[in-house]
Amino acid sequence: MAGTGKNEEVLKESFMTKRSQNKRAFTHPNWKERWFVLSPENLIYYDGDKQSGRRKERGRVKLSEVVAVECVDTEVFHRDWVFQLCYSSEENEQIVLYIAAATSQERDQWLDHLRRLVAQNPCLSDHYHNGCIKGNQWTCCKGGKEVAACTRVTWTNNNPVGQPTPSPTPDARSEMMPQRKVVVALYDYNAIDPGDIPLRKHEEFEVIEDTQEYWWKMKNLQTGVEGFAPSNYVREKETIGLHQYDWYLGDATRQRAEVFLMQQEREGCFVVRNSTTNSGIYTLSLFSKRSHPQVKHYHIKKDSEGNYYLSHNIKCQTIPDLIFRHQHNPAGLPVRLRPPTHGRHAPTIPGPHPDKWEIDPNELNLLEELGSGQFGVVRHGKLRNLDVAVKMMKEGTMSENDFIEEAQVMTKLRHPNLVQLYGVCSMYRPIYIVTEYLKNGSLLNYLRSKDKVLINNNEVLLDMCLQVCEGMAYLERQKFIHRDLAARNCLVGAHGEIKVGDFGLARHVVDDEYTGSGGAKFPIKWAAPEVLNFMRFSSKSDVWAYGVLMWEVFSCGKMPYGKAKNTEVVEMVVQKGCVLDKPRFCPDNVYNVMRRCWDRTPEMRPAFNDIIRIFQDE
Ligand code: ADP
Ligand code: MG
Repeated sequence: MAGTGKNEEVLKESFMTKRSQNKRAFTHPNWKERWFVLSPENLIYYDGDKQSGRRKERGRVKLSEVVAVECVDTEVFHRDWVFQLCYSSEENEQIVLYIAAATSQERDQWLDHLRRLVAQNPCLSDHYHNGCIKGNQWTCCKGGKEVAACTRVTWTNNNPVGQPTPSPTPDARSEMMPQRKVVVALYDYNAIDPGDIPLRKHEEFEVIEDTQEYWWKMKNLQTGVEGFAPSNYVREKETIGLHQYDWYLGDATRQRAEVFLMQQEREGCFVVRNSTTNSGIYTLSLFSKRSHPQVKHYHIKKDSEGNYYLSHNIKCQTIPDLIFRHQHNPAGLPVRLRPPTHGRHAPTIPGPHPDKWEIDPNELNLLEELGSGQFGVVRHGKLRNLDVAVKMMKEGTMSENDFIEEAQVMTKLRHPNLVQLYGVCSMYRPIYIVTEYLKNGSLLNYLRSKDKVLINNNEVLLDMCLQVCEGMAYLERQKFIHRDLAARNCLVGAHGEIKVGDFGLARHVVDDEYTGSGGAKFPIKWAAPEVLNFMRFSSKSDVWAYGVLMWEVFSCGKMPYGKAKNTEVVEMVVQKGCVLDKPRFCPDNVYNVMRRCWDRTPEMRPAFNDIIRIFQDE
């Protein structure tokens, strides 16, 4: 058996990323990949793995000192599958180790293993913090650093007190005896597949089977009808909190809230969201046309007794109560509050079939042509009652087998800012790629057609950039390189939501006009120097392209480097080290971010996650 250094037994080992436990408040915590090894006594993490031969221990946690093993609210870090290990140091200080696993199964396995080993610890706590410290506060309960843990643990040694962690492994499930899981529908859903059930907002369901991540089998608690529905359309009743209200936008940015309210154009229309600058604080964003149409933002304050208030004459114990009072009395606000008429937009349905990516063309009803690009024609279509876009791949442009293999991977990529791939029709030629349909077409055309209203509308333009960045940060986390990021490959939905499309397609193109950097179709103007020189693609070359995309957004769809020919661009970028000029109305701080994306050393460019933080700190 492999050792952990002192011939200890290895129970589990894998690469995971770990958040630095930086004591200095002013440095940004970063995440590093470490090789984690679990023995019966310790969790040890190393630089490098067993094979690499240069493995160096970076730290260890004694399992006997572990106080809690729990998940973390996914929204606090821009990362999936994070869990935490709380333990006491030798100085009896409470320390939290945050670790991100690569997949949900991987996280659940680690949770399961760790919990088995610490289950008998006398120091085990029955509460923990579901968030992390930001500023000087916990994101979950807004308490100061020393405040008692706020969230009840989801398991104890053989005595479950709440829900198990999301989708635990089957054997962990029987041991932890979950209580039944009741969820509430947040959006309406019309059944697509014969095995589906419809959801109506606010209805309650019992989850019968949640082994598939995105499609759960549920039973309507009123009607008793059973079937599949998308898991991103429901939320657990126990933790639903503000999510049950149409006016709550969660982690939406200030820019997103403004765009949302400007679209509704109703006097007094409002939303509540988590403050981006002050974690744990809520912000009310309010639309008013009094002087001119504008959105104002107010922090919802809390007094020493924990009451929420916007003005001193109305104080309430809960935010919904406070909102209710202000719907009847402006009391210090410019107008009375009116909830939005169209609530939050329903998320994308995660593909119509659980795990089926081969789509029968007979189920597709092809409609009008949407456009055509280098891969062929794109048509609007219906897959049963679901709107889809169908990309018909021009024959000979793709190495088809490679692509079909990759399509399986791509169907598993899911993010609100990525065009969802639903599947492929690969039995006949041409191959069809079936994706989510976005009503407002490509971002490039959208910017060009609306340049008069958009130019100098910096909040909206920044919101677009941020949305693309969120999608790219997800791809970066999944270690997926886009290779062809540009405004023409992003799409705009009915409510101004922006999604990144065409990811991963570029790799399978066989057309040498496209594949070589000398080819006429190669996206030279978006390519980083190391791509032009050595065809070296990475997430960091995606970051370079993202800088160019920001430039396209802030110039409302101008062609980068104007009419300059590709050869001239290569000379400017590679030999002379030139970069694009600041677009006319672009704020300096935004242009500075572009400049950082165009650092000549790939490693010096910020990661997508860093860019999100830079924008949020503004
Ligand atoms: P290119 O990226 O080379 O411009 P594409 O083949 O990706 O070409 O797309 C061509 C056009 O089809 C786009 O400009 C857009 O207008 C339209 N289109 C592509 N995908 C979608 C979609 N999912 N929803 C709506 N329109 C789309
Ligand atoms: Mg495209």
